Amino acid sequence: MEKKIISTLLSWYAKSKRDLPWRSDHLVNPYYVFVSEYMLQQTTVPTVKTRFEEFIKKWPSNDQLAKTSETKILQFWSGLGYYSRARNLLKAAKIIHKDYDNKIPDTYEKLIQLPGIGDYTAKAILGIAYNKSVMPLDSNIERILARLYALNQPLIKIKKKLLEKSNNFISKKHASKLIQAFMDYGSIICTPKNPKCTNCKIQEYCLSYKKNIQSIIPTKISKSKIKPIQYTRSYVCINEKNEILVRQRPSKGMLASMLEVPNDIWRTKKSLLKKDDVIKKIKQPFIKKGLIKYSFSHFDLYSDIYFTRIKKNNFAKSRWLRVSLYTKSQLPTVMKKIVKQALLKTE
Ligand code: SF4
Repeated sequence: MEKKIISTLLSWYAKSKRDLPWRSDHLVNPYYVFVSEYMLQQTTVPTVKTRFEEFIKKWPSNDQLAKTSETKILQFWSGLGYYSRARNLLKAAKIIHKDYDNKIPDTYEKLIQLPGIGDYTAKAILGIAYNKSVMPLDSNIERILARLYALNQPLIKIKKKLLEKSNNFISKKHASKLIQAFMDYGSIICTPKNPKCTNCKIQEYCLSYKKNIQSIIPTKISKSKIKPIQYTRSYVCINEKNEILVRQRPSKGMLASMLEVPNDIWRTKKSLLKKDDVIKKIKQPFIKKGLIKYSFSHFDLYSDIYFTRIKKNNFAKSRWLRVSLYTKSQLPTVMKKIVKQALLKTE
């Protein structure tokens, strides 16, 4: 059965694969695969597609990437979220530049030591870029396996079983194509919702389809939809030259090293908020400009927004950013939203 599934998926892939910029039929560029795998962690393929092309235009090789600064890569990453990926990608590129003469490593032992690379990413690079006999388990592949074998439990509880089943699909000759075939099949045919079973080429081998339980696999873990909440107050201060007061966030923790407008340390209760030290020194009155809610993966942030106009002055650990440049700056999305709202309301 597994052999038939493999040959069916490979022929389907030859005709129906997705057109993705980090792929090439004849010559896979390991650097492209390396970059795309960092970008794809926690981000969807359609979002990564255009950003990947922009990235490669800026940094076409590991050598060029390794020589860039953290500020530049963080600035580029704005809007993609999970900024630690950008930092890790740069650290890894520097190691590859120094230790491996800019060649993306082709062994599990070397890849797994690089910052930001875990078991999945190491195997994805080995399999896709170097055609090594591995099977990285991403969400698409896990879902297809769970459905094929009718594994009716939450994926998180059957990791070992999925790993065992995936060993049946490790190809000696066509690992790269087979891995991508599984990924594309999960994205186009065996989709998370409403799998297209009537068009499915491997339907006859699918135990879930036989039992008509495919729509409930993978089984969901019931979890509360309510995320914890954190509160802050953000202050948008603009000077007579139309510049915004900004500063760099600490190098560790949420949005590390990114820019921000002054805001109070985030707290789980509004009553615990303490006015930011820089803001305490500003005597001009602030006008309240509404509230935003921004969803991070593990909590929602609520921020009241305050606005004032002040004279250009030096404030500790802060600098001025031209208003016309803020959308392209290293401000993360949440801060851009705060500035946008403050500006909209003042026009
Ligand atoms: S029959 Fe349906 S559930 Fe089974 S592999 Fe095909 S698309 Fe997925």
